[in-house]
Amino acid sequence: MKTPLTLEVARGVHHIPLLGSASINAYLIGDILIDAGIRASAPRLEAALRSHKIRAHTLTHVHADHQGSSHFICATRAIPMWVHTNEVEIMEMGAVAMHHNSPNNVITRLQRQFWAGPAHQVSRALRAGDDLNGFEVLETPGHARGHISFWRESDRVLIIGDVLTNMNVVTTQPGLNEPLRIFTLDAARNRENIHRLAQLEPRLTLFGHGKPLRDPEALLRFAAAL
Ligand SMILES: [Zn+2]
Ligand SMILES: [Zn+2]
Repeated sequence: MKTPLTLEVARGVHHIPLLGSASINAYLIGDILIDAGIRASAPRLEAALRSHKIRAHTLTHVHADHQGSSHFICATRAIPMWVHTNEVEIMEMGAVAMHHNSPNNVITRLQRQFWAGPAHQVSRALRAGDDLNGFEVLETPGHARGHISFWRESDRVLIIGDVLTNMNVVTTQPGLNEPLRIFTLDAARNRENIHRLAQLEPRLTLFGHGKPLRDPEALLRFAAAL
């Protein structure tokens, strides 16, 4: 079966699978785009957004597999880029600064070389508590310096970025996993966020990598077993 370009997974929330059915994901919350895959995701992202009006673009965090097509989309759509205040500098410097936001190893160097997109100027620095189309910005640093998640309490929808993945990113096997340490700045701090976010008991969790999860118990069980 062909993977659809976008899929409405909650009121006004669209899942945009950019690689396979959910290996690399972006999301729309109303008219705001969250994450933008790798550099090569641009044509698919553009096709997915063809029938959508976009007002702004933001990121869960500035890693090469999330900001790859950010410059492309902001430039072609003439929309502003918003990132967390601790990631502004990295977004504006691009791949040359990304080693400040993830461990520096052969894999992350290859990702920066082949996946990362150009730098782009940031128009708005986000902080905890900011409201983006009904979603609250939660500061969830650890995996990256200024990693953020997005939470809509009214129907308990959580966009969790890379605090957790719902697949093994090496084998693509589905299931909850902590992000790999080779991609994570501070695994202990990230784990604190896993506990905190699981306590929210989201009815729907949306990941940077892996399929949407409609099982709050699974998050609690996973967190408890850490
Ligand atoms: Zn990441
Ligand atoms: Zn990622």
